[in-house]
Amino acid sequence: MVSVDYDIGIVGAGLAGLTTAIQLRKKGYSVVLFEKNGFPFHRVCGEYISVESWDYLLDCGIDLADMQLPIIKKLQVSSLNGTLLTADLDLGGFGISRYKIDGLLALKAREIGVEVRDNCKISGMQRLSDHYRIEASDDEVRVQLAIGSFGKRSNIDVQWRRSFLARKLNNLNNHIGIKYHIKADFPDDIIALHNFKDGYCGISKIEEEQYCMCYLTTAANLQQSGGIKEMERQFLYQNKYLKQLFEQSEFCYSQPLSISQVSFDNKEPVFAGTPLIGDACGMITPLCGNGMSMAMHSGKLLTVLVDRYIQQQISLDEMLGLYTDQWRKQFAARLHVGRIVQARFGKVWQTDLFVSLLKKMPVLTNAIVKRTHGRGF
Ligand SMILES: Cc1cc2nc3c(=O)[nH]c(=O)nc-3n(C[C@H](O)[C@H](O)[C@H](O)COP(=O)(O)OP(=O)(O)OC[C@H]3O[C@@H](n4cnc5c(N)ncnc54)[C@H](O)[C@@H]3O)c2cc1C
Repeated sequence: MVSVDYDIGIVGAGLAGLTTAIQLRKKGYSVVLFEKNGFPFHRVCGEYISVESWDYLLDCGIDLADMQLPIIKKLQVSSLNGTLLTADLDLGGFGISRYKIDGLLALKAREIGVEVRDNCKISGMQRLSDHYRIEASDDEVRVQLAIGSFGKRSNIDVQWRRSFLARKLNNLNNHIGIKYHIKADFPDDIIALHNFKDGYCGISKIEEEQYCMCYLTTAANLQQSGGIKEMERQFLYQNKYLKQLFEQSEFCYSQPLSISQVSFDNKEPVFAGTPLIGDACGMITPLCGNGMSMAMHSGKLLTVLVDRYIQQQISLDEMLGLYTDQWRKQFAARLHVGRIVQARFGKVWQTDLFVSLLKKMPVLTNAIVKRTHGRGF
């Protein structure tokens, strides 16, 4: 066997990559983790983390209990006609910015010996006969196993010609995301999802008296209105709760963060002989709340199998097969429900009807919340 530089190479240091790197390092493996941005940095995300990942983050060395984070126990959903539904969240969640949690995880990873190479964009990943090659612009690393955790859409997907990129534009694959941090008069224990035509906006508390306000809408809405501010006035302000939030809150930075080409289409958990974790193998609609927990959970499933593979208890292909089975068993149904719910939202009359129906049928609301959230892992 060729000599390798590291046991494990992970491409992409979001929550999936960071937590998996920490867990594999804790098992004693040498791990290199590549990230194209420099830590710490902001990302577009609603920043509500389901409690299901609390213990896992503790196990990764993040002392959440000491941070006095807002604990979120209720969900509010409003429709354009002003109907407001309030429901208890079975598990609930907590609020923390990605700037903070990702930054802390990157520090922890470095502290325990993961080689975190940030500001390093990977240009290629290949499975060879007995190792993997990971290529950066001016370097090449050989690892026994490469893991892809490069998020929702990456240059690696383009290079691999993954089929989700070729799908015709539809209501599950052409969204934009916009995020603000604001100071607002808003309860600490509620996550609200306010609907508007072809989109919805979440608001919930994070650290330091700030709230994350983050929305998802279609690229068509932006094109039609010609700019973010114009789009907000034209579409988001039609919901009275959003109009109030936009007009009465203090915005913490002058420009919002934005992302485009967000897709919720099906993806594969293994591609080009490489195991994928987090959004790289499927992204749940934020309407269903907990993509970050799913991203970390997929990494946890893979960690156990990687350990067995490197200890030579199973072959590489057995490991990839087992991971595919376990991933599907754990997440396929949740992603499916997420897509169904996403497809019902956005059309004004359908959303009005759906929210009114849910308001009258708390049992149905609870069932949907349960189907889209997992259990502690
Ligand atoms: C608008 C919106 C709101 C959301 N709100 C929530 C929410 O409130 N709660 C929740 O649980 N989930 C939410 N999600 C989903 C959540 O953000 C994702 O599921 C989660 O971030 C996935 O983590 P990840 O590690 O897989 O990917 P990411 O966090 O996207 O990390 C991938 C990393 O890979 C890096 N990368 C990509 N290509 C390369 C390369 N070639 N070389 C090196 N690095 C590379 C990227 O820079 C990035 O840092 C939301 C998503 C959107 C779009």
